[in-house]
Amino acid sequence: MKFDSILVHAGLEPDPSTKAVAPGFAPSTIFEFPEGGFQNTRYGYARYDNPSRNALEAALATLEGGAHAAAFGSGMAAIQAVIQALGQGAHVVAPIDVYHGTRNLMNDFVDHWGLQVDYVDMTHSASVVEALHEGTRLIWLETPSNPMLHITDIGAICNIARSKGVPVCVDNTWPSPALQQPIAMGADVVMHSTTKYLGGHSDILGGAIIGSQGSVLFERIRRIQQLGGAVPSPFDCWLLLRSIRTLGVRVRQQCHNAEAIVDWLKGQPLVETVFYPGLKTHPGHSIAASQMKHFGAMLSFTLRLPPAKVAKVVCNSEMIVHATSLGSVESIWEHRRSSEGPESKTPETLIRLSVGIEDADDLIRDIDVSIRSVADSA
Ligand SMILES: *Cc1c(COP(=O)(O)O)cnc(C)c1O
Repeated sequence: MKFDSILVHAGLEPDPSTKAVAPGFAPSTIFEFPEGGFQNTRYGYARYDNPSRNALEAALATLEGGAHAAAFGSGMAAIQAVIQALGQGAHVVAPIDVYHGTRNLMNDFVDHWGLQVDYVDMTHSASVVEALHEGTRLIWLETPSNPMLHITDIGAICNIARSKGVPVCVDNTWPSPALQQPIAMGADVVMHSTTKYLGGHSDILGGAIIGSQGSVLFERIRRIQQLGGAVPSPFDCWLLLRSIRTLGVRVRQQCHNAEAIVDWLKGQPLVETVFYPGLKTHPGHSIAASQMKHFGAMLSFTLRLPPAKVAKVVCNSEMIVHATSLGSVESIWEHRRSSEGPESKTPETLIRLSVGIEDADDLIRDIDVSIRSVADSA
């Protein structure tokens, strides 16, 4: 089956007793034991496993071409499980422009649990090679990066990692499995904030780790998931599986709109730079073309306006939602530096846009009017 068919049919098996086609939602926390008790049951207690989570995890594993998946209550809970799984004193190599939440969490482990992290420019594989040493237990990778859309060569980094016996975890939240599947490129595990494209409607908080066949790291993560219990509710699992059915069509429309918006932005005198890997002038263009199916629906741009005015532009839209987060059916934008806080290195005149599935002409008009109303004001 091709990807779009898998999206629709993963875990879609009529219920044996009722023949219901849509999967049931199973809120039960307990499951009746046969003789012999817990040891002899498929399901025993909901924290360890339950039918709704199991259906979601099976679908996620299939979408990423992995062998297993572990669902979490948020993307951050999933990241925390990965770090915990490395053990005390582990050394991690992470991108210099890693998602700010990941950096804050890793730094907390540095301060309190003896984690060591080197943040390097992953667009140059040489800097990764330089950072690796005996104690390195993980390479963390995120591409395209947030919010500058830098592109890292997943295959190249995985080759380096394999030669040193170091596992690679790819945060695949931005592209989603509809555009990029890192396990096929050599990643050991893939991480998602399912809050974003997989959920797609700004109404589910969730995370996931997908493990490749035989991943020892994944086994440790599974144990932390089941013992620690930072898991999504059965309802969130059920809802997320429902959202996943339309991932393919949503992402196609989002990418189509993003390309139209980028084309328009390029011709605007008030737009200084557009950051989008689909642009032929983008330094990561050819790598993105080889490892992504399309160039995604996340983009950033800087404006030739004073920073205070740029921060106002995002408050002026009629349709585009002024909020953080991404991947939803509605377009969302923000003045990224304000969201990241005082330590942010993001340019002060940068706007990050998550393109939704609305009509591209309406989106362009909304951006145009928002920029001009601020530019023309005193
Ligand atoms: C949102 C996000 C996360 C964190 O996920 P939550 O679901 O908000 O906990 C991690 N990585 C990336 C790239 C994200 O965009």
